[in-house]
Amino acid sequence: SSSEDEGEEYLFKIVIIGDSAVGKSNLLSRYARNEFNLHSKATIGVEFQTQTLEIDGKEVKAQIWDTAGQERFRAVTSAYYRGAFGALIVYDISRSSTFDSIPRWLDELKTHSDTTIARMLVGNKCDLENIRAVSVEEGKSLAETEGLFFMETSALDSTNVQKAFEIVIREIYNNVS
Ligand code: GDP
Ligand code: MG
Repeated sequence: SSSEDEGEEYLFKIVIIGDSAVGKSNLLSRYARNEFNLHSKATIGVEFQTQTLEIDGKEVKAQIWDTAGQERFRAVTSAYYRGAFGALIVYDISRSSTFDSIPRWLDELKTHSDTTIARMLVGNKCDLENIRAVSVEEGKSLAETEGLFFMETSALDSTNVQKAFEIVIREIYNNVS
């Protein structure tokens, strides 16, 4: 492509939020590095990973932020949300308390954002069907009520992980282009 076209580049910040241990860090490591960790521990400080996609022949970079464990102390800072264009709001389908927290996370996201956010409700750990505590219908219904995309994922077996991130990234692209 010509040198003028090389200016057509996009960088989108996406945040992952949700209760502790729902699988946020593993969703990111599965998507960005195709890695899963059974005993992942919270690390100190905010971290992000960058993934590059091509959409409409344009280079789109998604800078995806992980809370790095602050959510344990209900201390996810406004800096974490600043400049975000997309969010994955994650619960664990085997723990209903994490689903009950979703409205609080949506409020927090709203409080800290001043722009249209592409939002995906993610029911993670769908490999744990035998101990499911939140039905697919409950997830779908909340997503419909709140106007969110919805997907059940498994960071463990990779189900829908790439899809969930890429729907958000494409929606942001559609919002801004
Ligand atoms: P975070 O606190 O939200 O970042 O959660 P982590 O990514 O650290 O995951 C918490 C625990 O859940 C870890 O023991 C992970 O191995 C496990 N985990 C994460 N995703 C999945 C999943 O899709 N399926 C199952 N069975 N376990 C998962
Ligand atoms: Mg984590």
